[in-house]
Formats: sequence, C-alpha cells, structure tokens
Amino acid sequence: MIQPNDLIVFCGAGGFIGGHLVAEYRKRGYTNLRAVDIKPFEEWHQLFPDVDNLQLDLSCRENCFNALEGAVWVYNHAADMGGMGFIETHKALCMLSVLINTHLLLAAKHHKVQRFFFASSACVYAADKQTTTDVIPLKESDAYPAMPEDGYGWEKLFSERMCRHFRDDFNLDTRIVRYHNVYGPHGTWDGGREKAPAAICRKVAEAKLLNTNEIEIWGDGQQTRSFQYIDDCLQGTIAIMESNIVDPINLGTSEIVTINQLVDVAEDIAQVKLKRRYNLKAPQGVRGRNSDNTLIRRQLNWEPCIPLRYGMEKTYAWVSEQILQGIPSLTY
Ligand code: NAD
Repeated sequence: MIQPNDLIVFCGAGGFIGGHLVAEYRKRGYTNLRAVDIKPFEEWHQLFPDVDNLQLDLSCRENCFNALEGAVWVYNHAADMGGMGFIETHKALCMLSVLINTHLLLAAKHHKVQRFFFASSACVYAADKQTTTDVIPLKESDAYPAMPEDGYGWEKLFSERMCRHFRDDFNLDTRIVRYHNVYGPHGTWDGGREKAPAAICRKVAEAKLLNTNEIEIWGDGQQTRSFQYIDDCLQGTIAIMESNIVDPINLGTSEIVTINQLVDVAEDIAQVKLKRRYNLKAPQGVRGRNSDNTLIRRQLNWEPCIPLRYGMEKTYAWVSEQILQGIPSLTY
C-alpha cells in the first residue's frame, strides 16, 4: 500500500477529475504529490501551492520520463477530450492521446513505478449495444467484439489493451477504469468541450439571468445516460487503484435519465420553466447508455450512489457563480 510520503504523480491534473483527485489526496494526508498538465497554470481548474506543479506536454516521451521520475504511483487522466460536441468533430486529436498513454507507460516501466492508473471510458462499448433509449446496461464484456465510438473510443480501447500487455509482458501493475459520465464543480462548463450536465446548467442559468426563457437541447431529448457525481468518481477511482482489480471495470451510476429529465432537474433547481428548442442536427452520441454495476458491487461491495438531484444542485450553484464572475475559478 502507498505510504503518505510516497510520490504520486497526477497526469492531467489541470483538468476536472485530475484536479479533484489531487485535492482528495491532500485531504487524505498525502504530502508528496506532483501535478502535471499541458495547460498554463492560470487555466487549471484547481491549483495547490504545496504540490509540485509542472506544465508539460505529456505527448512527448522526454517529458513523460521527467514527470515520472521517483514516482511510486501514477494516475493518467491526461487526454484531449470533451463532450459529444468535441469528440465527434475532433477524432484525430482524440486519437493522438495515444501518445500520452504510450509514453507514460514507457516512462512508468523505466522508473519501475509500482502502480499505473489509466482513465478509460464507456465510449469503448460497442455502438450496436446502445441503439435504443431503454438500453440494457453495459457490462465489461460488452466492449468486444469491438465497435467503439470512432476516434475517442478506439484510442481508449487500444490504450486499455496496452496497459494490459505492459502488465503481462513487463510486470507493470496497471488499473483501468471505464468512467461513465462524470460531472460536478471545477470542470469545463463552456467553450465547446463541456459535457451535458455542465452545458445544461449553463444554459438554464443563462436563460434565467438573461430572461430569455428558452433552452436549446441537442437531439430530441429522449436519449438516455447515467451521470456520476465527482465525489462518487473519486471514491471509486481510489478504491479501484488500491484494489487487486486488474481488468477494466465500469465506474458510473446506474440511475438512468433522459436528457429531458436532466433539464427538468436543472429547471427545478433554478426554479424556472423554459421553452425547449430541439436541435436535431447537433451531435448526440449513442441513443442510450447505462452502466451495469454487477462487477463493481461484487468486487468493492459499493457502487456510485449520490443522487442526480444532489450533484446537480452543487454543479448548478458553481456554474451560476462562474457565469456571474465572468472568469474561470481557481482554488488556492
Ligand atoms: P479534462 O479535459 O478536464 O482533463 C484532461 C486534462 O488533460 C486537461 O486538463 C488537459 O489539458 C490535459 N492534457 C491534454 N493533453 C495533454 C498533454 N499532451 N499533456 C499533458 N496534459 C494534457 O477531462 P476530465 O473530465 O478530467 O477527464 C479525465 C480523464 O477521464 C480523460 O482521460 C477522459 O477521457 C476520461 N473520462 C472522463 C469522463 C468524464 O465524464 N469526465 C468520462 C469518461 C472518461
């Protein structure tokens, strides 16, 4: 087990999940943390002065070797990613994230890192298993035969397998988590990379503040998803990293909702009722997706359980605050 003063390196720490994970390890008393991201520090969602913060492009091999020097555990959350609006239109950029994971794995092997975490995604699941709104929840074996989300999903599936073979062939201990949608404060909420919960909070808050009384919804609003609050994601991520679960595992809630129901929740929190304009030409992703949590329940005796209403209240409050401030927030 990791000791409180062992070096843990967080790749993609300027981002949403990576930033929260650094905050969580600080809270748990770990004192030797290194945070790495390609973005300038002023763009990081969370930045802590007592952490060794590095601005590095981890698609470069040399930077990965420098970033992982002395590391005992490594978390890789670095990727070029976003919501459907981004990944459907930037397939090559999404696939180039393979350079990050490849070079990090090589560096982890070189530095004899004890454990390596890879953030995979529910986008690895075969498209033909997600064609209806009343979708059967996806279990881990549904990733094969492979037909993942084009671009982003293929990169995740390939990188999962690379982790597996580094484990088998080079004895590098790896953990692979397939995140289903994660949301919460201190994440991307505008600019084109935001995912549905943050985008809907922003649209509802803006409609309320500007008194426009209207909201644009991508698709017909009937598409289904499950949304996991960041606190569940952190608890599950750390539990899986600390466990002996070496094969890819789902981390998501099984509380399925339509996008219309997600808008209902945001409207209820904001105490508004908006006219809905459906944009059928906008990117929508698969028709339905939910997480089968049989494996995580069996392995951890736990599964993500924070209700959507609770998480959306926190997220809506934070997004509204960002809109009012007009600047992205930075935590010290
Ligand atoms: P995010 O975009 O907020 O964070 C990713 C971070 O990686 C960004 O800060 C970005 O600057 C950094 N990065 C990109 N290229 C880099 C490079 N070359 N070198 C160094 N840093 C680089 O995304 P997130 O929501 O925090 O997601 C973290 C991980 O989890 C990603 O791998 C993502 O694919 C995966 N994931 C997230 C979700 C979700 O719902 N948030 C769902 C499934 C999978």
